[in-house]
Amino acid sequence: MTVIIDGKACAKKVIEELRKKTKNLDKKPSLAVILANNDPSSRIYVASKERQCLDLGFNSCVYRFDENIKQQDLIKLIHELNENDDVNGILVQLPLYKHLNEQEIIELINPKKDVDGFHPINVGKLNCNLEPWAICCTPKGIIKLLKEYNINLVGKNVVVIGRSNIVGKPTATLLTNENATVTLAHSKTKDLKEITKNADIIISATGKAKLIKANMVKKDAIVIDVGISKQISGKLVGDVDFENVKNVASYITPVPGGVGPMTIACLMENTYELFKLQNQKA
Ligand code: NAP
Repeated sequence: MTVIIDGKACAKKVIEELRKKTKNLDKKPSLAVILANNDPSSRIYVASKERQCLDLGFNSCVYRFDENIKQQDLIKLIHELNENDDVNGILVQLPLYKHLNEQEIIELINPKKDVDGFHPINVGKLNCNLEPWAICCTPKGIIKLLKEYNINLVGKNVVVIGRSNIVGKPTATLLTNENATVTLAHSKTKDLKEITKNADIIISATGKAKLIKANMVKKDAIVIDVGISKQISGKLVGDVDFENVKNVASYITPVPGGVGPMTIACLMENTYELFKLQNQKA
């Protein structure tokens, strides 16, 4: 019987643990979010991050900008947020408007407030298998999901499809740190099927609907679908041909309801961890 991995339930568990840990705090963890794009999906993601903060009693402040925002204005805001002791986590919702320099903004965030784990110091720490101040939320959520289902990663053949800095690469790094044997595939990879057919675990993060077909999956492999694509009908689908692949896989995540909820839960966890870091006595 194929197990459909329940990301919503797993995320709820993370959230309820956080609720217990934070309910009696005098001061609450606080998240600042910068929204400087006009991408409808980003607006939905930011709204759900705000809702989750509210639900947990965390403070959240969203800075929304129209396309007249200048790089200098954002730089000034990041400096102010870095200096503000009432802000524990700073999140810059990507992508930014095209005229803005994303990397410069990310690098200005205090790494101890870099709640998304995108700052080069946090990325470097992850690569060195040292503890970053924060680990990127989606990759962290994927590992938590696998562990929640007692999936052993040691020595497993894992293929991660997609090499973005925010999902694919850090997921591959975390899996390597967990002693899996990782192949990182991308759009230039030759014969993807040959690689996926030999994988014990497939993690797909491309945004290409139904890229992963049943004939690309080894019997009883574990399939984690990170991708989100909107069909013309408005329906959200993943990278995996779920209906057919579920007959071959032993475990599979649905879209929606798989990796997505874990991303927000891990964002809340990161906000709390940075809050603790900043409030610990010297
Ligand atoms: P991205 O920056 O666009 O990266 C996509 C990656 O997929 C690239 O590395 C690209 O290769 C690779 N790729 C594209 N087509 C491919 C193909 N046919 N075969 C193999 N590899 C291919 O996207 P991202 O930000 O990493 O996000 C990936 C997907 O995850 C998107 O659908 C996004 O919406 C979703 N996402 C979900 C969550 C969540 O919480 N569930 C969070 C973040 C992102 P090249 O590098 O060669 O171009």
